[in-house]
Amino acid sequence: MAEKTIFKRIIDGEIPAKIIYQDDLCLAFHDISPQAPTHVIVIPRKEIPSLAAIADEDAPLLGHLLVVIRDLAKQLQLERGFRVVNNCGPYGGQTVDHLHFHLLGERPMTWPPG
Ligand code: 5GP
Repeated sequence: MAEKTIFKRIIDGEIPAKIIYQDDLCLAFHDISPQAPTHVIVIPRKEIPSLAAIADEDAPLLGHLLVVIRDLAKQLQLERGFRVVNNCGPYGGQTVDHLHFHLLGERPMTWPPG
């Protein structure tokens, strides 16, 4: 059996995380190595390795994640704006093979990304 990802271990409560939101479909927690004053990771409970691996029937789940991100941005008072990032695959810079979105805020972002 494939080894659990670090995010699956957080879902299963095997390792601690600063969880700020959870429901039956997803959870959100502070990134262990923040790249901005606010850096939250939002993940589905469903084990999906990456954005490239989503199924058509995951569309409502993906929509839910974006609604949660919208609400978190409001809750975290990111009214000046924020960035949502999904790293997909090796060239995308993905390091944890469990679908996740980064919510970054409280500093101005630059473009293009590195
Ligand atoms: P990726 O590079 O795959 O897009 O993002 C993975 C993110 O997970 C990184 O920003 C990294 O800092 C974060 N991360 C890795 N391990 C842990 C952990 O054990 N706890 C938390 N809270 N974040 C983690």
